Amino acid sequence: MKSEKINKKYPKKFTDLINKIREYNPQVEKDIPLLWKTYNFAKKGHGEQFRLSGEPYFEHLYQTAIILTELSMDTTTICAGLLHDILEDTEYSKKIISNEFSETIANIVEGVTKISDIKFNSQEDKQANNFRKMLLSVAKDIRVIIVKFADRLNNMRTLKSMPKSKQKRISLETRDVYAPLAHRLGMHKIKSELEDLSFKHLQLKQYKFLKKQVLKNKKYFDEYIKKFKKIIHNSLNENQIKTKILGRTKNLSSINKKMNIQNKDLDKIFDILAIRIIVDKLSDCYAVLGIIHQQFKPIAERFRDFIATPKSNGYQSIHTTIIGPEGKNIEIQIRTGKMNKIAETGIAAHWKYKETSKDMDEIDKKILWLRELIDILKNDPNNSEDFMETLKIDLFKEEIFIFTPKGDLITLPKNATTLDFAFAVHTDVGLSCIGSKVNSRIVPLNTILSSGDKVEILTSNNIKPSYNWLKFVKTNRAKSRIRRWFRKNEYIESINLGKEILDKKLRQAKMADKIKIISKKYKEMGFQTQDLFFQAIGKGEITIKGIIDKVCKEKTIIDNEETKNKPFFPRFYKSTSKGVTVQGVDNVMVNFGKGCNPIPGDDIVGYITRGKGITIHRSNCKNIPIKEKELDRLIEVNWDKNIDYTFYSHLTILSENRNGILQDISNTIQNMKTSIASISMNSEGTIAQGNIIIIVDNLKHTKNVIKKIKKIPGIIKVKRI
Ligand code: MN
Repeated sequence: MKSEKINKKYPKKFTDLINKIREYNPQVEKDIPLLWKTYNFAKKGHGEQFRLSGEPYFEHLYQTAIILTELSMDTTTICAGLLHDILEDTEYSKKIISNEFSETIANIVEGVTKISDIKFNSQEDKQANNFRKMLLSVAKDIRVIIVKFADRLNNMRTLKSMPKSKQKRISLETRDVYAPLAHRLGMHKIKSELEDLSFKHLQLKQYKFLKKQVLKNKKYFDEYIKKFKKIIHNSLNENQIKTKILGRTKNLSSINKKMNIQNKDLDKIFDILAIRIIVDKLSDCYAVLGIIHQQFKPIAERFRDFIATPKSNGYQSIHTTIIGPEGKNIEIQIRTGKMNKIAETGIAAHWKYKETSKDMDEIDKKILWLRELIDILKNDPNNSEDFMETLKIDLFKEEIFIFTPKGDLITLPKNATTLDFAFAVHTDVGLSCIGSKVNSRIVPLNTILSSGDKVEILTSNNIKPSYNWLKFVKTNRAKSRIRRWFRKNEYIESINLGKEILDKKLRQAKMADKIKIISKKYKEMGFQTQDLFFQAIGKGEITIKGIIDKVCKEKTIIDNEETKNKPFFPRFYKSTSKGVTVQGVDNVMVNFGKGCNPIPGDDIVGYITRGKGITIHRSNCKNIPIKEKELDRLIEVNWDKNIDYTFYSHLTILSENRNGILQDISNTIQNMKTSIASISMNSEGTIAQGNIIIIVDNLKHTKNVIKKIKKIPGIIKVKRI
């Protein structure tokens, strides 16, 4: 009695929907409250929105749900179908949908929204395939794709009210992406209708012509099929086989394809006639086949047994083409009821069969249909290659699909960065890449991309690749291009550096007149070419003193000149090897690491650079440009025991902003007999921030200065950087 009462308050539209579900799912009763809630939520949510056709927007959602019932979909999917445009067109968030309904429904709706954002506009075959793969990888839950098919089918049915340009784009996308995907998933009915509708909108003239032709012959075809069905029916009855015989003409787009391929006109294409015989049992399929072949001559090369060898999408059926009455070819398909369901709805049918187990884990649900495909296919190892193709539908978790600004798709491995994308576009783009925009927002080059991102690369002629890049690029292509660039440019760089060093040092030694002569003595130094000679100088493998000792008679004291150079700071400190001993190496070029400025007392480590000698860093320095593979570039270095050089130490100070604080700091430092190389304070409200560079002997010296500064009233923090 209670349910009767409820029934009365439902509008007819809703009752129709429930009745459609009840046809395949008798347990729908318990889902009615949820469906009713969803129905109203969608209706209210889209409220006053109308489609271009003038229909209320809700009509589109309702029809999408109806299509889903024709695919025997579960309640979750039908709810998602009703809500599929709610995120896109209303203020409701995913969170609200998740709270009001369920996370699964919210995820499916979000998936459909994401897919709808992706617009296909390429004519290239390869792109279409990437596109299909991307849709599947973005979808994650196969039900997203099924809802999208229903959405698209309704949109195609109502495409007329759209502007012409949009009609064309959507039809192309339907023809090149969705219809083949539906075919792939074995959803034959959807595929045929999508194909016919896009054919209609893309080639209206041809479509109309064919339709007219078929209609003109319809009466004849219908009569013919009727007669033929009767013949078969009688002989099957004699053999006591229960069958259902369906006769049809093929869909217009496949007739059109056939005409184009065979270059024939309609009259010559006989096999637009097709008969489908549906039987109860698998063994009946072969019995029926035998009976038909006894009566009519088969065309041997057109015979296919997809029961013994199912198609990769799970399709099973026997196909045979026979020469029927009046010499016309008729294609006959023989299959069981279950095979027919799978043939028409494909993946969706698999979905229905597994709905029985209710509390299944989402992941299990997702792979179950794959397992069913495996079951169908495992009896036929010959099909395994084809099968792997199918399996990939769910296996491109390892790939992501990225759009160029022009809408082309580029496939990259999972976790690839914008820089990988740049190198995938073109090596030159990668090498001059300075930044990137992902979905119109500027992001760093190491940003990890995800499927469906639209990426634009910003380039500059002034940029050079950085070693740092090798730390985060994922693709081998990017890695090898970057390495190749370094190999080539380091070589050139060290040659130039070698020339410079030779030139500079000889001038300092007042031997400028010898530059040309010495440059030509590379063979005496044991080098085959002059470039290799310069390179060795640049890399610090040979010293100028060594060269002069060997090739000049005059002995010159050359290795002292650098100590006369005043170190340049604060930008960075350059020194000779004085002050530091490098393990096992004599007379090498030594630099102190930028920004890290080690001073005696610091724990230090040497890094063998490519072309610039050895750089000394504090061992805890974050700037050591090191990759794990290059640990052999690190070398042990030590401070000389007796150093009488001075070093620079950089301190930052945070203090209260009060009068005279700068004076107090500089007095304190000077009272410690310490020189200040530079001092500056910036105040911001009540706080002041200072940068001071002092000249010190060693770490202890720096620490003492810090201690004293900390005692000045108002000082908050003092730190060496
Ligand atoms: Mn829609």
